Amino acid sequence: MQNFNIGIYSHNAEIPEGFDIYFNYLKEVTGEINDPVENSHNIISCFADNETANQNPGLVSFSGKNRALRTEDNTLYCDWICRSHTAYRTKLFDLIEKTDKYNIAGFHLDSISMPGVDYCVCNQCIAKMKKSGLNFNKFRTNETTNIVKQISEITRKQLSLTLYPDPFYQERYGIDIDTLSQFVDFFLIPLYDISYQSLYWIDILAHAFEKRLKKAFYIMLYAQDVDLENLKKASRLISKYTNKIIISYDNTKAYEIYKMLKKY
Ligand SMILES: [Zn+2]
Repeated sequence: MQNFNIGIYSHNAEIPEGFDIYFNYLKEVTGEINDPVENSHNIISCFADNETANQNPGLVSFSGKNRALRTEDNTLYCDWICRSHTAYRTKLFDLIEKTDKYNIAGFHLDSISMPGVDYCVCNQCIAKMKKSGLNFNKFRTNETTNIVKQISEITRKQLSLTLYPDPFYQERYGIDIDTLSQFVDFFLIPLYDISYQSLYWIDILAHAFEKRLKKAFYIMLYAQDVDLENLKKASRLISKYTNKIIISYDNTKAYEIYKMLKKY
């Protein structure tokens, strides 16, 4: 596959030479907000926000059994805020509006959907769902679409969104890919592993996403502490399905992948 487009995904504001596209955190899952990174796609952890969850436990999403806190749901990597809280949503929109004035490449929306398949059934969500007359999944996908649509009206810069690595049942997390495709420029799909020793599942998922998506997409691979040869094998494998690849959290390894795929 020709014309590779290779990028990095990073917590740091640095933009090293030599990549095609850059993603850097503007708002972290910790809740911390960094300065805007010029020429980069600024990542916003939308509803994963440990600090807000800690300070305002009443805003946390609820599954019916537990709250969306790492201490109560061990499948979570961070704590999640319920999307029905208008003041929190407004703060996100304000952050985007303020950052939009900078010379940035775009916004990347992370954790915009649901923390899991059972969320959220807090009192506010149940009341909103009843009022809407929609069923659980339809209500949740509509909420995601409305939020992304509103953001697309705040900024004219490029807009992208993380998909769960599930090509078949995105609605389980409150995502309607086809409708969202109207409002975003591309998707990012993390196929993360901590070793990439076994690759058959990457092959299956990358192939399925290529068949499923009509919109542009990047596949992301996780590089921190991963053996470089394994990462190269994984990159070669997904390059059968996409020429757009992001290497996360290790810029040195990312550059090795860049050189390999671009044949420098
Ligand atoms: Zn809720």
